[in-house]
Amino acid sequence: METARERREDPVSKLVFELSKLPGIGEKTATRLAYFILKQDSAYPEALADAILSAKRRIGLCRSCHTLTDGETCRICSNAQRDRALVCVVERPPDVQSIERAGRFRGVYHVLHGVLSPLEGIGPEEIKVRELLDRLQPAEVREVILATNPSVEGEATALYLGKLIKPLGVRVTKLAHGLPVGGVLEYTDRETVGRALENRVEIQ
Ligand SMILES: [Zn+2]
Repeated sequence: METARERREDPVSKLVFELSKLPGIGEKTATRLAYFILKQDSAYPEALADAILSAKRRIGLCRSCHTLTDGETCRICSNAQRDRALVCVVERPPDVQSIERAGRFRGVYHVLHGVLSPLEGIGPEEIKVRELLDRLQPAEVREVILATNPSVEGEATALYLGKLIKPLGVRVTKLAHGLPVGGVLEYTDRETVGRALENRVEIQ
């Protein structure tokens, strides 16, 4: 068996090791990917490394909605056609893309970057709750749509946010049922997401 030191020094092992840190990639897949990359001529690994580095350097969080963007403000927040009085709260940046793909939402977003999860030590301070409440203060917001995933943590987070937001005098709704239970917004088809959005329900 190879030692940790050998693993660090052997370039192929090092590549497999780094690839295996990616979500959903075990050592077997990492090995396959590594050999695929090494089989290509050098243009591909260079383009891949460059794409990763330049995305990491240029992409930050929108200062308004906290989704990923290469500017100070994302394209959605800086679009004058979008309704700023309607804020859709989602867990992660890919959820913004899912709702955008459904093509029925004309408001703006707020990305929490996670959900409350006491077991994993994730409380309101660890996600963008304070930033959301700050946005809602000036009474310019008419409705907040809570579009967290229909998982236990997602539902608990929506409940928590609803209790904080309702006293501010803002209408609070959540996506209609119809989304698969435990399903992830990111992988739900656009028709289902569109319908869940249109048939959203008031939180009491
Ligand atoms: Zn934005």
